[in-house]
Amino acid sequence: MLNFTYSNKTIIHFGDKQIAKLTKAIDKKRKVLLAYGGGSIKNNGIYQQICDALKEHNVVEFSGIEPNPSYETTMKAVELVKEQGVDFILAVGGGSVIDGCKFIAAAAKFEGEPWDILAKNAPVKSAVPIGVVLTLPATGSESNSYAVVSKLATKDKFAFGSPYVHPEFAILDPMVMSTLPERQLTNGIVDAFVHVMEQYLTFNVNGKVQDRFSEGLLLTLIEEGPKVFNEVNDDVRANVMWSATMALNGLIGSGVPQDWATHGIGHEITALYGLDHAQTLAIILPRMMWEMRTEKQDKLIQYASRVWDINEGSNEERIKLAIEKTEQFFQAVKMKTRFSEYQLGEEVVDTLITQLERHGQTAMGEAQAVTLERSKTIIANSL
Ligand code: NAP
Ligand code: FE
Repeated sequence: MLNFTYSNKTIIHFGDKQIAKLTKAIDKKRKVLLAYGGGSIKNNGIYQQICDALKEHNVVEFSGIEPNPSYETTMKAVELVKEQGVDFILAVGGGSVIDGCKFIAAAAKFEGEPWDILAKNAPVKSAVPIGVVLTLPATGSESNSYAVVSKLATKDKFAFGSPYVHPEFAILDPMVMSTLPERQLTNGIVDAFVHVMEQYLTFNVNGKVQDRFSEGLLLTLIEEGPKVFNEVNDDVRANVMWSATMALNGLIGSGVPQDWATHGIGHEITALYGLDHAQTLAIILPRMMWEMRTEKQDKLIQYASRVWDINEGSNEERIKLAIEKTEQFFQAVKMKTRFSEYQLGEEVVDTLITQLERHGQTAMGEAQAVTLERSKTIIANSL
């Protein structure tokens, strides 16, 4: 196992009616920015629950943080934070609202051009504190230090991370999932699954605890994920929601190498073609697994055996079958797995490679083995 330092400061309030906990979770002396997306919270009762909980707080609102939050929109909120002297940000939404708020929180305190936080890894030295009411289990952003923000003008989608933007608390009420459109349920399950894979499917360092946590999350998503569409009940929702948080809160990634090459290519696909984040991952992951089958052989065989109960055949046959099972799982949660299903064809290959090159993504993955040439093969095989 590799050395690591693990901490996660987010206090989780999990379960039915937990939104009421906001009253005590945010100090009344704070001036709160209530930030949300396109308005789904106004149609499903979440907004009302928040207003009830914060009726004695000093609150200003900012709405309209879009899926794949943009620099352009979030900078408007930065102005508001500064103008109004906001000293706490409550993000109510999915990964996009939360990530947008992390950027707002950091940008509001940043001296210089905030885009540099994303484009040049400029260090974040402070941020407005953040709390979260999660409305879409998927990204894990509610209890991690990362955010992904896009600049529409240049078609760039970049990530940054800082302990200063790690949420202080997150409220996870699985009932919020009852109003999620099918497409977002699908996205959430696939994003969470791929987060686990990016931390699990790497070269082996004998992180047995991390491996078994990861396998537990994968098995839970495989078992419960397809149920959210028809046999859904409170326990199904709770298990899917908690899996998504645990998939990317630092725990399973501590002390093991991390890959993130599938996300690296995925972000470029969203930036250029507008596919949802998880849609891009489902296209790339199966071909990434196949392309990296030699480097990742040990872990792929372990994955095949422990997650899919595949124990017979040659190594290559087992790996092939495990990848097929992975793709079938994506399909079972109603996800497409090929560019062609989105009416995208061969033209994407060179365009994506040019974009990866422009962003210096020429040696991705835990062993820097995903070169441009291999990315090209992966993308071409995913058409
Ligand atoms: P999202 O983009 O936050 O939300 C997608 C849509 O779902 C929005 O239109 C939203 O509508 C709607 N929605 C959310 N909750 C709803 C509810 N309870 N009922 C009905 N509709 C609801 O989706 P996401 O998958 O959570 O986030 C994707 C973003 O996160 C991408 O930019 C991705 O790159 C990023 N990401 C971040 C991390 C990280 O660690 N920080 C990891 C992976 C991905 P409204 O806007 O109207 O609410
Ligand atoms: Fe993701």
